[in-house]
Amino acid sequence: MEAKFTYDDVISFINKDTLYSHCLYHDDYNNKLCQNRSNMMNGLCFKHQEHLEDFDSMKKVAKSKMVGSIKKMLAKNEATIGKENKEKVCDPMFILISKNRWFMYDNPKFALTVFNKLLEFEQEELTVLDPLKYVMIMFPNYNIVQIEI
Ligand SMILES: [Zn+2]
Repeated sequence: MEAKFTYDDVISFINKDTLYSHCLYHDDYNNKLCQNRSNMMNGLCFKHQEHLEDFDSMKKVAKSKMVGSIKKMLAKNEATIGKENKEKVCDPMFILISKNRWFMYDNPKFALTVFNKLLEFEQEELTVLDPLKYVMIMFPNYNIVQIEI
């Protein structure tokens, strides 16, 4: 597959105003991310607004958790046999990335890989995964019409 899009293209397809759709508050005691929906646009839900000054350190935790989860999911995908089963493994990974679009925005190389993978999936006949749904959620500034040509 030829490299059609640059990092800059793909980053421009992401909506900067909705990078933090879910709360990145980290509960150190339980080692859990809040992940509640956040309408505040600053990466924290209404309940956790008071922790904004610790946001950078919480984002670091969220980032390392994302890296860990994605690695685990990719390894599971490698070990999975059969197209439909692989789709079932990929689906939660795309959900996770959809909820953490800031991660792609911070990692253009990863964003381009995800974007190209979704376009590649769109060319295949899939039964479980809906690649266009994820393109719309993750890269809303990309003109979807281009895919159908
Ligand atoms: Zn929260």
